[in-house]
Amino acid sequence: MAVVGAGAAGLYAALAAARGGARVVLVSRSPLAETASYWAQGGIAAALAFYDSPERHLADTVAAGRGASRPTAARVLCEESPDVVRDLQSLGVQFDTDQAGRLALGLEGGHSVRRVVHAGGSATGRRITRDLSALVATAERIEVLEPASARSLWTSEGRCVGLVAERRDGEPIELLAGATVLATGGAAALWRRTTNPPGAVGAGLTLAAAAGAALADLEFVQFHPTALASETSDGFLITEAIRGEGALLLDDAGERFVDELAPRDQVALAIQQVLRSSPGARVFLDMRAVDMSQFPNVAAALRRAGLDPARELVPVAPAAHYTMGGIATDLDGRASIDGLFAVGECACNGLHGANRLASNSLAECFVFGRRAGAAAAATAAPPAREPEPAPPRGPDPLPQPSTRAALWAHAGLERSPEGLRELMDDPFPLARLFAGAALRREESRGAHQRTDHRSVDPRLDGIHVLMRQDTEPQLESWR
Ligand SMILES: Cc1cc2nc3c(=O)[nH]c(=O)nc-3n(C[C@H](O)[C@H](O)[C@H](O)COP(=O)(O)OP(=O)(O)OC[C@H]3O[C@@H](n4cnc5c(N)ncnc54)[C@H](O)[C@@H]3O)c2cc1C
Repeated sequence: MAVVGAGAAGLYAALAAARGGARVVLVSRSPLAETASYWAQGGIAAALAFYDSPERHLADTVAAGRGASRPTAARVLCEESPDVVRDLQSLGVQFDTDQAGRLALGLEGGHSVRRVVHAGGSATGRRITRDLSALVATAERIEVLEPASARSLWTSEGRCVGLVAERRDGEPIELLAGATVLATGGAAALWRRTTNPPGAVGAGLTLAAAAGAALADLEFVQFHPTALASETSDGFLITEAIRGEGALLLDDAGERFVDELAPRDQVALAIQQVLRSSPGARVFLDMRAVDMSQFPNVAAALRRAGLDPARELVPVAPAAHYTMGGIATDLDGRASIDGLFAVGECACNGLHGANRLASNSLAECFVFGRRAGAAAAATAAPPAREPEPAPPRGPDPLPQPSTRAALWAHAGLERSPEGLRELMDDPFPLARLFAGAALRREESRGAHQRTDHRSVDPRLDGIHVLMRQDTEPQLESWR
């Protein structure tokens, strides 16, 4: 079988499939530092404390999702994330502990209790991807092709039978696989202002849509409230965990204007309102009372940008951060085409609804990575008959600066129907799919705010917008 992508989801899915007895080829375009997983600062949400429970984690997840989460998917996440944390520990990941040797649990926005595990303070993603890649590199059943880029999915008689990739020197690779797992990450770098690495442009969504697979929930794009606003390192994410430790959001007059630990959609909109209230208005994060030794890489990045968080206020503004939508899947990562799976940020099983709860994303990569890896391993028999010929290599789906500017302008924190219709003419196909989904959801809910429909439409509770290339959006209710 094939796994595409070597972030948290791809690495763990490959390991799970290999444990399930499959032989895996792992295709990765970029070195680790270009994955979003590497940059994850907060941690993994898991109900591990004696005062916590999966039910409580579920209630917080569903509340943040604003009536659009798929409850069965959210339940799987909350019930299984404690076990994946223990599994990661058994694989050698060292999470931070308190003085008594218990896992140290952080508090983040939207969580009613402390439940976020970290490794190396704010270096969680870096530590985990480092440890998992070392395991993958030495796993007998896993072959790594890197750098190599998946350029088309190979379908035969309506089934995915592998993929066509390209090495950096242009050499093509045709990879026949009984199961193909896409773990290519999100698409938030399609927006001009973003916290994501440049490669997060929805490559897997483009591949899946071109092969005829359904995408879902594309209208829900999360804007992180506190990205650094500066000439250098603009968009650098300042983790919510710092607000969990007491950092405050202040306007130009030094006044607080929002509950710093409200869910992200609320905080981002509140900041946007202040920024728009007068020309040149700014918003600051006041970290002066926070012990920044807990967040060494944030402190170091701020110093590199010429800012000292111990003494001065740090200017922040929202930036595109996370795509809740993606390739539509069931709870084992199966996409709408046989033989194709998707996991991690490129997938959408409906878990996050209209607003992802902080640190539920890494948890998703591991919980559903394990499920998808095992399910793919169990179905990884090679195609019985000679498949149709491999397709030509598709283009490398890189957006022009004009597409990134248009998504920021028309599919940002607030969307107007006129702006979305303009986006429907964008040359970048994925931008049109994002616009089509946002046009179809005629309401404001969580991360999707329409200027012409300011409130929630209860008829759209639990409804997902399904997009397929060249067809009209469809509304579906998922169990
Ligand atoms: C700055 C930042 C901080 C974050 N902090 C947290 C946090 O604390 N907690 C949390 O839960 N979430 C956090 N998130 C979100 C979380 O990190 C991501 O959602 C998650 O890591 C995505 O993992 P992934 O494996 O799906 O994708 P990624 O980690 O982005 O990996 C994608 C992989 O796919 C490869 N790829 C892409 N296209 C192709 C192709 N065509 N061919 C071959 N390979 C390809 C890439 O090279 C890469 O290896 C954060 C995100 C950012 C940007």
